[in-house]
Amino acid sequence: MILILESNITQAQKDKIKVRLSDEGCITREIIDAGRNVMGIIGNAKTTPDEFKAIDGVADAVIIKSSYKLVSREFKTQDTKVKIGNVVVGGDRIVVVAGPCAVESHEQAMAIAKEVKKYGAVLFRGGAFKPRSSPYSFQGLEEEGLKILADVREQTGLGVVTEITAPSQADLMIKYVDVVQIGARNMQNFELLKCVGRMGMPVVLKRGLASTIQEWLMSAEYIMSEGNSKVILCERGIRTFEPYTRNTLDLSAIPVLKKLTHLPIIIDPSHATGIREKVSPMARAAIAAGADALMIEVHNNPDQALSDGPQSLYPEQFGQLTRDLYVIAPVVGKQLDFDYLKKSKMINTIQATASKTAAFIGEYGAYSHKASIGYFGDEIEPVPMKTFKDIFNAVQTGDCQYGVVPLENSLSGSIHENFDLLQEYDLKIIGEITIRVKHTLIAHGNASKEDIKTILAPPPAFSQCKNYLDQYPDIELVPVKATSSAVKQVKESGDTSAAAIGSAMAAGIFKMNILEESIEDNPRNYTRFAIIANQEKSMEKVNKTSIIFSTGNKPGALFEVMKIFSEHEINLVKLESRPMLGKPWEYMFYVDIEADIEHPKLSYVMDKLKEKSENLRVLGRY
Ligand code: PEP
Ligand code: MN
Repeated sequence: MILILESNITQAQKDKIKVRLSDEGCITREIIDAGRNVMGIIGNAKTTPDEFKAIDGVADAVIIKSSYKLVSREFKTQDTKVKIGNVVVGGDRIVVVAGPCAVESHEQAMAIAKEVKKYGAVLFRGGAFKPRSSPYSFQGLEEEGLKILADVREQTGLGVVTEITAPSQADLMIKYVDVVQIGARNMQNFELLKCVGRMGMPVVLKRGLASTIQEWLMSAEYIMSEGNSKVILCERGIRTFEPYTRNTLDLSAIPVLKKLTHLPIIIDPSHATGIREKVSPMARAAIAAGADALMIEVHNNPDQALSDGPQSLYPEQFGQLTRDLYVIAPVVGKQLDFDYLKKSKMINTIQATASKTAAFIGEYGAYSHKASIGYFGDEIEPVPMKTFKDIFNAVQTGDCQYGVVPLENSLSGSIHENFDLLQEYDLKIIGEITIRVKHTLIAHGNASKEDIKTILAPPPAFSQCKNYLDQYPDIELVPVKATSSAVKQVKESGDTSAAAIGSAMAAGIFKMNILEESIEDNPRNYTRFAIIANQEKSMEKVNKTSIIFSTGNKPGALFEVMKIFSEHEINLVKLESRPMLGKPWEYMFYVDIEADIEHPKLSYVMDKLKEKSENLRVLGRY
């Protein structure tokens, strides 16, 4: 059973309930979920739900029907995010864990760690205690292996994951690693589950070789009932009658689990398929199916690997995979962030007195809000602003550390105002993020599609949903400033004949209902945002530079500048012209270049640009 507590419940009232439950032989666990104060009851309470409801401070009492309680969605409706150092499993940013099956030597682990980090892994895996089918196979380096993992973390900044095979290893694990893994063979080793529950550190719980989802969730319940909620469920293939792959990867477990539990999901296509060439296709499919993370075996010399060589990717193959995932992730509303760790470092060096915030336009639930979370995760607090100018002002004055501003949409084109503001303010672009804009039709829970008489949205959203809206010529279209304010307005009006066009995230935030999903005419609807800051980010590796410049008003002036890029084979990915502020008929050019134009190697290009253009300014390198 769970108790939904009144928001103004006193500590004394809470203590009274806890004492009563303890007398009835129950344990209680408290969480805040979607703004609700929830108390979970473990054990068979004698007090009935109706009796609980009559107690002061209790708003509701709900019986959880499933046999797992704490892991269920009923107990906690919001997704759990498991924090491992600076990495969060379960948010908008996909977490990639990679490394060899087993730690074989210091040299091997370090070499692979550097490779996988280069290609986007944010956690390193490697077994030190190996549960092998044969007692004659390599059993792992044991404590020596753990020491190597700790050194990998020290030298690369990657958090480390390893398997625990017995409760006696608990102290060593706490000393050397960041995450413990319960292997498939141990999924129902209940003493081990209770042990990692008490250890309190993040746990990757692999699904047993022939376990049902129900049994798997019951194992997670063992860990959570000991007070440890940092559980990540790992699907690694189950045993079926099919011999062509080592196991059968049950990707349908992803949507099934998403419904049943709030815990994040990691997919291990390496052990699932057992065959190198099958790993990447299944990894891509897992992300498309909604996995939060991936665990991939990578080896620099798989032919000589002491375990699982045939299923280990070569580092370059892993690199190719992460590039593909980078493209796939936004389709399902997520991001693969190649700068994940660098960004955390940048955020951690913000002075304690400075604000750790990012200004965005609109209300919570705006696409800009989603872009901010996609770029920074939860480390930076998104702050809503009314206008784009407010964002630039907030960043300039230091009220907000960062700003998130849309620059262009794949269907409706450039957001000119922001190009003008980039010209006007002396701020830096420190990064960019592209997110998919998937519009939904949002209304009150008790409204049906037939009830809708007006739809609120900003004009670009109307134009992006034109084909859909044309089907309903009698519905009045009411323009507002942003999608998120449309949702807010409909919510606050209480009007069941009104709907808004906005993100699924906005529907969730305002607790509204989605009447129709993906109503944009073209599903390839993406918006690119720039992240702006007061200061340049110190980045070793830069892929892109944004510059602005003007040219004299003489024939061929722009051509002269373009020629420089052409002669040096520098690729331009965006060129935008904007009227110069206060100078009618004179233009500034905004250019994105696929190169680090301030790199010493390109200093001659920079010199030439300065010579041929006017007012040249580097807006940012990222
Ligand atoms: C492993 O991750 O190396 C491993 C042994 O996995 P599983 O328990 O899924 O077989
Ligand atoms: Mn393995």
